[in-house]
Amino acid sequence: ENVIELKDIKKIYHIGGEDFAALAGITLTIKKGEFAALMGPSGSGKSTLMNILGCLDRPTEGSYKLSGKEVAHLSDDELAVTRNQRIGFVFQNFNLLSRITALENVALPLVYAGVGHKERTQRAMKKLEAVGLATWAHHKPNELSGGQRQRVAIARALVNEPSIIMADEPTGNLDTKSTKEIMAIFESLHEDHKTVILVTHEPEIAACASRQLLMCDGLITRDEGKGVVMDVV
Ligand code: ADP
Ligand code: ADP
Repeated sequence: ENVIELKDIKKIYHIGGEDFAALAGITLTIKKGEFAALMGPSGSGKSTLMNILGCLDRPTEGSYKLSGKEVAHLSDDELAVTRNQRIGFVFQNFNLLSRITALENVALPLVYAGVGHKERTQRAMKKLEAVGLATWAHHKPNELSGGQRQRVAIARALVNEPSIIMADEPTGNLDTKSTKEIMAIFESLHEDHKTVILVTHEPEIAACASRQLLMCDGLITRDEGKGVVMDVV
């Protein structure tokens, strides 16, 4: 079952009268349950690709099938609906709202989805329990450590039962101990057959994934996993 099917995806920017391909033709399939790490030097196109995969932006050319549905040409509103239903995001800076509790932060995607208060609270609490933070449910983010904040953010990313969890440098602001805790959570998501895509600069983090994708100049130049190495370009 393919969660993601990209076919010859290009993202062209017009800079000073010239065309620049931030993505130069990416073809990529990611199956349900894969845990993929995306690596590559600054400027290689990782953010641009993640923005398209996360339905935050559209490609200039090419096809993107998300769970079998073509999403490359959706309007902004349709893209937003798809994003809210199918994608969970985890950020380097956690992106929690500081004035509400951990539980309310986790429940927020369900507010947008129109789920009632009681069900929202129950579902959010379950996800907080799953990341070991039930006792912190009624605390605000500034009362939590960095690692705990990121666990709240992961619970929030999961609460809608998304098709994909996308994480951009999720351990970039964490110490070694918290990094290990967060990576253990991603590994357990992988064991639960969740689909995870993670951007990282750190080889040790990438090694936790089941597949390593390397980008260079807007292309995937290496695709490595399950003992198979492919130099794509
Ligand atoms: P990475 O995340 O790997 O650092 P990016 O996807 O941010 O790479 O950028 C890839 C290339 O596309 C870079 O050369 C960047 O300057 C360019 N780029 C990204 N976004 C834009 C934009 N909105 N307008 C013009 N150029 C962009
Ligand atoms: P990252 O730390 O993820 O690599 P970047 O510094 O590459 O971030 O990009 C930050 C934001 O600025 C992104 O949203 C990207 O689309 C935009 N951007 C990057 N390069 C350019 C550019 N040359 N012109 C306009 N916007 C850009």
